[in-house]
Amino acid sequence: MKITIIGTGYVGLVTGACLAEVGHEVFCLDVDQRKIDILNNGGIPIHEPGLDQVVARNRAAGRLQFSTDIAASVAHGDVQFIAVGTPPDEDGSADLQYVVAAARNIGRHMTGYKVIVDKSTVPVGTAGKVAAAIANELKSRAVDIGFSVTSNPEFLKEGAAVKDFMEPDRIVIGHESDAEGLQAQAVMREVYASFEAAGRKIYWMDVRSAEFTKYAANAMLATRISFMNELANLADKVGVDIEAVRQGIGSDPRIGPSFLLAGCGYGGSCFPKDVQALSRTAQEYGHDLRILAAVEEVNELQKQVLGKKVHARFGTNLQGKRFALWGLAFKPDTDDMRAASSRVLINELLRAGARIAAYDPVAIEEAKRVLALDFADAPQLIEQIEFASDHMAALPGADALIIVTEWKLFREADVAQVRDQMNAAIIFDGRNLYEPAKLKALGIEYHAIGRAILT
Ligand code: NAD
Repeated sequence: MKITIIGTGYVGLVTGACLAEVGHEVFCLDVDQRKIDILNNGGIPIHEPGLDQVVARNRAAGRLQFSTDIAASVAHGDVQFIAVGTPPDEDGSADLQYVVAAARNIGRHMTGYKVIVDKSTVPVGTAGKVAAAIANELKSRAVDIGFSVTSNPEFLKEGAAVKDFMEPDRIVIGHESDAEGLQAQAVMREVYASFEAAGRKIYWMDVRSAEFTKYAANAMLATRISFMNELANLADKVGVDIEAVRQGIGSDPRIGPSFLLAGCGYGGSCFPKDVQALSRTAQEYGHDLRILAAVEEVNELQKQVLGKKVHARFGTNLQGKRFALWGLAFKPDTDDMRAASSRVLINELLRAGARIAAYDPVAIEEAKRVLALDFADAPQLIEQIEFASDHMAALPGADALIIVTEWKLFREADVAQVRDQMNAAIIFDGRNLYEPAKLKALGIEYHAIGRAILT
């Protein structure tokens, strides 16, 4: 099939590459010339394990092309996936300007029947807005061309995006029930035919329910994290090990083991903005989503937890203190710094006068870019942070090590060696990577999350 992907970011590039991998002819469009140039020169603009091979293989096979040519992109695909960003607006609702712009472009250039697929995470009712934008363009061109808008939210995780796309737990597709909607359903079945043949389950539903399903999934996952973080903070006070509790409850099949790790808060491009957008949708309908308001509030506080622990140990003024910082990205295997907990910590430490030697396996360049924005009001503070060439090189002279991202490299570090490199044997661990008993035996002062009883 001929498929166009509008927006070649994390989701668009992975979707395009993976749909080419299963045999479709894919045209990826972006308005960002830099991204398209990188891709056309054989590079990958993001860090995502395994993606480079899928892209290279399918480009070489002639099934995957990248361009900024809007007219050509509309002409190419019978199916047009919209995978542009939906960042939070000032009031927390999803900003649909890129989605609507993409829809207008389709309406402006289409000459035959198209199935439009909302792949971006968009609030309930967006398919209607996309349809209206296309219809408006067709009207101003005085042409009558059929189309149908479907919703196919994406559940991939950054860091495991290719695997998640190729082997999805489920595929959710919302379509209209009129004749064109049923035609679109048949087209979408063909798009995902190889997935269905491999036993992957497709959940067919109405468009609004599909749109809502994505928010419900992210809201549930964010709720589990904030729930465990809140319990972890209590665990520290009442003398309970949250890790033992996690295992004790996660073995219950009604609860399940995933997403129960206590830590220094969730970040990334999705949970924070999707929780906010769902709350905003609720407000628009005069409904108060109280649980989600608490989930967000708990997370904001949890991002501050490492800074608070550092202050409790070293005092409010951190002048003259130097900290090694492991992990900048919001999670491992990505260079994504959006809403990363590291930014809250760095902000706190630098403004309190500390110096930082930071290391992340892939996010250093992206960190430099976002920190320049975070410290636009006090650019001189940026001088207090330096970036180490590897994780061990961040340690010499440090008064403590602070871990923010759970990279495997950090989990597997030789903690005795870590201790020997630093000024003081102190570790603040925002991801509970180590066994407290082992660190205690090595004479390391260990501050974890919800494990105070063991440290
Ligand atoms: P991104 O910012 O990485 O990519 C969006 C791309 O769209 C950018 O390259 C941008 O230049 C391009 N773009 C914007 N307007 C355009 C237009 N009119 N025409 C062509 N290209 C245009 O964003 P992302 O992380 O891929 O997210 C995209 C959507 O998918 C969002 O709604 C997000 O919530 C959702 N989503 C993201 C993830 C994730 O893990 N990143 C997972 C599931 C769903």
